[in-house]
Amino acid sequence: TLVPDDRLLEGLNPQQREAVLYRGQSLLIVAGAGSGKTSVLTRRIAGLLQTREAWPSQVLAITFTNKAAAEMRERVGALIGREEAEGMWISTFHSACVRILRREAENFGFTKSFTIYDSADSRALIKRIIKELDADTLGFTVSGVAGKISKAKNELSDVESYARGANFNDPNEAGFVEIFRRYTESLARANAFDFDDLIAQTVYLFRAFPAVAALYQRRFRHILVDEYQDTNHAQYALIRELTRGIAPEHVPADTRMATSADGGIPGASLTVVGDSDQSIYAFRGADIRNIVEFERDFPNSRVILLEQNYRSTQNILDAANAVISNNFDRKDKKLFTTIGSGDKIIGFTGYSGHDEAQFVADEIQKLHDEGVAYKDIAVFYRTNAQTRALEEIFIRSALPYRVLGGTKFYERAEIKDAMAYLITVANPFDPLALRRVMNVPKRGIGPATEAALQSYADANQVTLRDAMRDASLLGLGPKVTGAITGLAQILDEVSATAGTAKVSDILVTLLQRTGFIEALRASRDPQDEARAENVEELVSVTKEFQRNNPEGTLLDFLTEVSLVAAADDLDDSSGTVSLMTLHTAKGLEYEAVFLTGVEEGLLPHQMSASEVGGPAEERRLFYVGITRARRRLFLSLAMTRAQFGEVNVAMPSRYLQEIPADLIEWKQSPGDATSRGGTQPRALNARRPQFSYASSFSELPAAPPRVKTEWANRVTNTVRDNGDLTLAAGDRIRHVDFGDGRVTAVTGAGPKSVAEVQFDTAGRKRLLIKIAPIEKL
Ligand code: ATP
Ligand code: MG
Repeated sequence: TLVPDDRLLEGLNPQQREAVLYRGQSLLIVAGAGSGKTSVLTRRIAGLLQTREAWPSQVLAITFTNKAAAEMRERVGALIGREEAEGMWISTFHSACVRILRREAENFGFTKSFTIYDSADSRALIKRIIKELDADTLGFTVSGVAGKISKAKNELSDVESYARGANFNDPNEAGFVEIFRRYTESLARANAFDFDDLIAQTVYLFRAFPAVAALYQRRFRHILVDEYQDTNHAQYALIRELTRGIAPEHVPADTRMATSADGGIPGASLTVVGDSDQSIYAFRGADIRNIVEFERDFPNSRVILLEQNYRSTQNILDAANAVISNNFDRKDKKLFTTIGSGDKIIGFTGYSGHDEAQFVADEIQKLHDEGVAYKDIAVFYRTNAQTRALEEIFIRSALPYRVLGGTKFYERAEIKDAMAYLITVANPFDPLALRRVMNVPKRGIGPATEAALQSYADANQVTLRDAMRDASLLGLGPKVTGAITGLAQILDEVSATAGTAKVSDILVTLLQRTGFIEALRASRDPQDEARAENVEELVSVTKEFQRNNPEGTLLDFLTEVSLVAAADDLDDSSGTVSLMTLHTAKGLEYEAVFLTGVEEGLLPHQMSASEVGGPAEERRLFYVGITRARRRLFLSLAMTRAQFGEVNVAMPSRYLQEIPADLIEWKQSPGDATSRGGTQPRALNARRPQFSYASSFSELPAAPPRVKTEWANRVTNTVRDNGDLTLAAGDRIRHVDFGDGRVTAVTGAGPKSVAEVQFDTAGRKRLLIKIAPIEKL
C-alpha cells in the first residue's frame, strides 16, 4: 500500500499512526481531550492527498466552527503544499449544506437565490402565524413553537410526518400542526430555508432524488467528521446518505470509477473522531448515541483509542480526570502525558466580579512579562454577561483583547438599542438613535412609515421626534399612528426628567414602558435570554455608575461609556488575549487559560441545575475548559456577583471540590477571602488550601467597603476623562486603587497613550492615561 512520506508520520505514536494509515471503510477514533484527534484527521487528509489516493475534490471534512475549518485547511496546506490542497470541502455542516442546496434547490421548488432565515426571522414569522390563528389565546408562545419546530426538524420530522403521528383530539397538538403547516408553507412561498432546514432539506433532497444524491456520493470518497459527539440526528442522517453506496441504476453513465460486481459503487470511506466527555450541545439536539452506536451503524468499522495527551501538564490532566470521573455512564479513560507535572493550578477568590477581573488582568500582565504572548492566553466564562467586568478592567489596564464568537459588550445589538433609547432621551435632535429604536421592540413602524415621518419633518423643518408627535396629521392607519404618538409621549416624558433623574431609573423606565425588556423576557429562545441578561447587565452598569457618582447625570454616563467604547480597538502587534464562552472554546488550546466565574449558578448554570442531565453536561463543559490549557491554568470566582441589576452572594462551584486539593494553590481561597477585612491589600500569602464547600460563605457579609481617601472619592465621582494629561517616564502619579507609583514608560499617542507604572506597593500596571483614575503628583 501507499505510504505518505515521513514528514506526515513524524512524531506520531503507534495508535495515531495507525489512524492515519488505516484504509478500511469506516474508522472511529475516540479519545480524551488533547490526544491528537484533530491532528490525526488533518494528517489523514494530507496523507490521502499526498499518495494520490484521493483528489482534493473527493474530500469532505466537517468541523464544528468556521474557525476550525480555516485552521484545518491551513494545516493540510502546510503539510503538502497549498495548491495540492485546493478544492477540498472543509467546512461546517451548515456551510456544506448551503453549498449543496445552492446548486440543487431547483430540484424541489426553490431557486438558488433562496434566503436563509436566522432565528429572529423565523420567530417573526411564527409570531405572525400565531396572531393570524389567534393561537396565543390557546397558550401558544413564539419560543415554545420555535423550539418544537426546531426539534422536529433536527429529528427529520417534517409537518407531514409529524401530523401522521399527532393526536388531533388534543387541541395543543392539532394547533401546533396547523402552525407548523403554515410556517412551512410561508417559508416555501418566501423561497426561504430556516437554519435547521439547511441540514434537514439536504437530507430530504438526497432521499427524494437518488440521482442527485449519487452526484455527491460519487464525488465525496472520503468523509471526515471532527467533534462527532456533538452531531444531532439530522447531521447523522446526512452522513449516512453521503456514505451510502450507489445502486447500479444510479451510477452515472460517464463514470470512470471502479464499480463493484453488481455494477454499483461502494460507499465513501468515513472517519469520525470524538470524545463523549466533551459533548456539550445536547440543548441543540446533539445526540451522544451517534458515537456510542457507531459500530452498530457502520459495520466492520475500526475503533482506535488514543490515550496520550500532548497538550497539557500532568497537574492539569489530573484535575480534568478527577472532575470528569464524577459523571456516571461513561467509559473510564485516563489521560497521561510525558510533559511532567508542571505548575500548580492557581485559584483565586475575588470580592466581586471586578476584583476577579483585576486579578485576571494582573496575572496576564505577569505572564506577558515572563514572555507568554497575549495571543497564547485565553479567558473563558459561562455567560456573555460576564464579559463586561472583564472588558472594563482590560480596557483600563490597556490589555489588548478580543471577544471571540460574540460582539463586544457595547457593540451588541441589544445594548446598542438600549443605549440608543438613552441617547434619544438625552438628545432629542439625534435622528440616528431614534430611527434605531423606532421599531424596537417591533411596533409596526416599518420603513414606509418612517419615510413618511421623515418627509413630513423635512417639509416642515422639524425634527423626526417632532414629526412623531404630529403623526395624526399624516393620514397613516390608526394603529401605527397610535404606536408612533405613544412612543413620542414616552420619550417626551422621560426626556423631561433626564436632567435630574438617576440614570438607572431612566433606563429602567424606558425599558419597561417601551416593552423592550418584556419582549426579550417573554421569548424563551436561548439567544433572547442572553440578550435580556445583557440588558440587565447594562442596568447593573448604570447602578454602579450611580453608586460611584451620586450626582452623575445621564450625559455624564453617556460620556463615560463613549470613552470606554472608543478605547475598544486598542491593538498591539504581539496579538491579543482571547475572551470567549466555554462553548466557543471547544477544540482550541492556549498556553495559559483563565476559567472565571467558577460559581454555583454560573457553573453549573442555574438553568441547567434542575434539568435532567444538566449538571453532568455542565461538568463536561468545565472539563472542556480545563483541558484547553497547555501549561498554566487559573480558576477564579467571586464572593459577590452583580447580576440582573443586583449584587448577589455567590457560592463556589461544586466542581471545585472535585479537584484534589494538592493540585491547586490558592492565591486567595474562599476561606481567606471571608476571614479577612477589606482594608488589607489583596493577599499574596498563599495559604494551604482550606476551602470547605459546606461552610463556605454561609455567613458572608456584603462586599467589604473600600476605604478611600477624600481625593479618591473626588476622582471617582467625576467622569473619568483626564483630557490631555501628558505623562512621561519618571513622573510620580497617584491611582485611586493602587496608590502612588512612578511612570516607567509611555507608549502610544493621543487618547490611546498608555503609561507603564511601577506602583510602590501594587506592582507594575499598564494604564490607559485618558481614563485611568489617576492624578499627577
Ligand atoms: P480536543 O479533544 O481538545 O479537540 P484533540 O484530541 O483534537 O483535542 P489535538 O488538538 O489534535 O487534540 O492535539 C492537541 C495538541 O497535541 C496539539 O497541540 C497537537 O499539535 C499536539 N499533538 C498531537 N499529537 C502529537 C504527537 N504525536 N506529538 C506531539 N504533539 C502532538
Ligand atoms: Mg480536536
